[in-house]
Amino acid sequence: MVPTTTNTEPLRVRFAPSPTGYLHIGGARTVLFNWLLARRAGGTFILRIEDTDQTRHVEDSVQKILEDLRWLGLHWDEGPELGGPCGPYFQSERLDTYNRYLQQLLESGHAYYALETQEQLQALRATGERTTGGFRYRRPDPVPTVEEGLAARAAGRQIVVRFKMPEEDIVVSDIILGEVRLPAEQLEDFVLQKGDGFPTYHFACVVDDALMRVTHVLRGQEHLMNTPKHVALQRALGFPTPVYAHLPVIFNLDGSKMSKRDKEKALARGEAPPEIDVHDFRVAGYLPEALVNFISLLGWSPGEDREKLTLDETVALFSIDRVGKTNARFDREKLLAFNTDWATRVTPPRLLEALRDFLAVNPDVPSAMREAAEETLAEVLRVCTGFRTFPDVIRKAGFLFVPDEAIVYDDKAVKKVLAKNEGEGYAVLRKLLPALADLADWSAAGVEAFLQHTCSDRNVQLGKIAQPLRVAVSGTTISPSIHETLALLGKARTITRIERCLQSV
Ligand code: GLU
Repeated sequence: MVPTTTNTEPLRVRFAPSPTGYLHIGGARTVLFNWLLARRAGGTFILRIEDTDQTRHVEDSVQKILEDLRWLGLHWDEGPELGGPCGPYFQSERLDTYNRYLQQLLESGHAYYALETQEQLQALRATGERTTGGFRYRRPDPVPTVEEGLAARAAGRQIVVRFKMPEEDIVVSDIILGEVRLPAEQLEDFVLQKGDGFPTYHFACVVDDALMRVTHVLRGQEHLMNTPKHVALQRALGFPTPVYAHLPVIFNLDGSKMSKRDKEKALARGEAPPEIDVHDFRVAGYLPEALVNFISLLGWSPGEDREKLTLDETVALFSIDRVGKTNARFDREKLLAFNTDWATRVTPPRLLEALRDFLAVNPDVPSAMREAAEETLAEVLRVCTGFRTFPDVIRKAGFLFVPDEAIVYDDKAVKKVLAKNEGEGYAVLRKLLPALADLADWSAAGVEAFLQHTCSDRNVQLGKIAQPLRVAVSGTTISPSIHETLALLGKARTITRIERCLQSV
């Protein structure tokens, strides 16, 4: 069910990332829930780029975020590249608008220039009043006049404009958390405009939510303490307050909060960094279908123990009523299981498209694989069933795309399969070589029939023949079934590889 509001406006939601890097999982969950709500209600999903913090801006990150959203299949109705009736959708292009509202607040006495220097603020921070949130700014009495503020700016001082926070408790009505009361003593006169003339996140966000006619704000619980500020500001500006829903925090299984810093921590421990950004999962060979399905369950549940859902099914079932208050847990094993399953659920052409994307974003895959014909890759996927993520496919079939002379023989495999028992495996290969060279039908069925005949003629198990062949052509003991492998490799390359393997003895 779509939450009810007092206004009758059509539902409009937004995702408002700051361009500070790739989209991380928490952000992806926020986008997804907003997108689902919009699709469920026939509403509008807006993408707004909150790029007013010049110091945190990361080159190319807008493009990266757009790319991540497209990869997830979460397309926006208004925003970058599309435009829309409430644009521009980059906050850095809306400075005149913020200045207009700032003027209004200064004139109505809801805002004032604060003249403290950085040093004075630092000294206050060391000695001043503290609340649970840290240092609490104390409003000067009287507050500086607009003339004093303008004079300070004219003298080149980077002074800020602050909002006069009403001295009263603020109650935020949240459709997930219920009523959250913030006591007046925890609220302070926060900054609306920074010394560099740019608006703060709070100010730009409130102005834009109103001008973009946002009806519902779904965002992470880490923003809960921002909401009273936003509500007070909306009141001062005469803006309506949207419906708020703060989504549960995402935790790792060990109970720590899932964060970008997990990567650095893992590296410091000498471990491989975990996937945190959407892009990490893309590079790690996950299907967006699996990832979206998995993150839809981070805080939401469709009920009746249902889990595996397509995006369309999720849209049909999505409801804020079923978003919980409690922390969500990011279970990587479960995600892997989802991916394994989704790889069998999507159509072969879709799986192929996803593999192509994986190859395109992974510089380390054999280049011949990236350039391989559609039919070849389709065959590879057909014979590599049961994989968890695409790197499993590379491990199992990547050798098909490596030049014959570049096959590296795994020591253990050679010892166990070829050299053991006085070179029993090598002997098998020597014997097989002329017969294989004579084999006319090199289709998978032809190779299979040949191997079966050979086994029954010699009265041996298939493994006795298949394993030496596997090591000879792949360098390891892992490959798709042997007849499929040889068929995919082709006769000439199979022979070349066996010969090369025998020469290395
Ligand atoms: N730019 C903010 C962020 O990336 C948006 C928060 C909000 O949704 O209001 O966290």
